Amino acid sequence: MTASNQEKYEVVKTDTEWQSILTPEQYRVLRKHGTERAGTSPLDKEYGEGTYYCAGCGQALFTSDTKFNSGTGWPSFFQPIEGAIATSVDKSLFMTRVEVHCSRCGGHLGHVFNDGPQPTGLRYCMNGVSLKFEPR
Ligand code: FE
Repeated sequence: MTASNQEKYEVVKTDTEWQSILTPEQYRVLRKHGTERAGTSPLDKEYGEGTYYCAGCGQALFTSDTKFNSGTGWPSFFQPIEGAIATSVDKSLFMTRVEVHCSRCGGHLGHVFNDGPQPTGLRYCMNGVSLKFEPR
């Protein structure tokens, strides 16, 4: 797949273990690099204050202060919590994109693009199924 497979993660589980703790859709996205259908995650329209955690390992990934409405149908953020995510180059689907995954378990979260709002100019386009929101 990608360079992310060669990294060492703090949380490592077998495929069978992941399947036992994740829903089939979480497993497909987080562990098999899937993409949820746009507009299907309730977190896309969630604008309450709180923290977004990795649905795989529970690491805090984003705070609500950095969430914005991208109009894409996927939850979008302009900045992750420091150290919470890592990236790799994704050349699938005839495009070169920057893939985003959890730095603790390697779970696939989405992609990051250069057309986001200030102050970073980045758009972290996330699968809502990869996230768990906890209101503050
Ligand atoms: Fe994780």
